[in-house]
Amino acid sequence: MTGKTHLAFGILVGTGYALKTTSDVGTSAVIIATTALFSLVPDICHAGSKIGRHMKLLSKLISFFFGHRTLTHSFFFMALVAVLLTMLNIDFTYIVCAIIGIASHILLDMLTPRGVALFFPLDFKVTSPINFKTGGIMDLSLATTFSLLTAYLIYVEMFHRTMSWIN
Ligand SMILES: [Zn+2]
Repeated sequence: MTGKTHLAFGILVGTGYALKTTSDVGTSAVIIATTALFSLVPDICHAGSKIGRHMKLLSKLISFFFGHRTLTHSFFFMALVAVLLTMLNIDFTYIVCAIIGIASHILLDMLTPRGVALFFPLDFKVTSPINFKTGGIMDLSLATTFSLLTAYLIYVEMFHRTMSWIN
């Protein structure tokens, strides 16, 4: 899946979570941005990815030792990030953002033929029975669908707010 599609899905998931958690616009923006950022983090194992390009050394080290779509695309990684952020005393809401962001990424990569090593350190790759190639028409359609859904969620929320404000 392309970085664009991962980002679009991360924003959608983050928007859904923000709408469920808070009515404050500023907090919502931080929730959405955090979730979106973490939806790109697993691809740190690809030096050419959006996030890998910014952290070349770490990216090369991870792909050298673990390969692509292994460590950073697993339950183990989600647990690791949760523990690290807890140790750093990060607010629980944002730990949830990180986890759902990473989970959204892994879920999308399961839709590609290569799959992901979800149960890392086990080598076994998990792929959805319905899958399609990265960068194809399905990839692009998903990115568009996710963006439209996000716009719809925000529209519905604003409509409700306006209505309750008028009444
Ligand atoms: Zn990935």
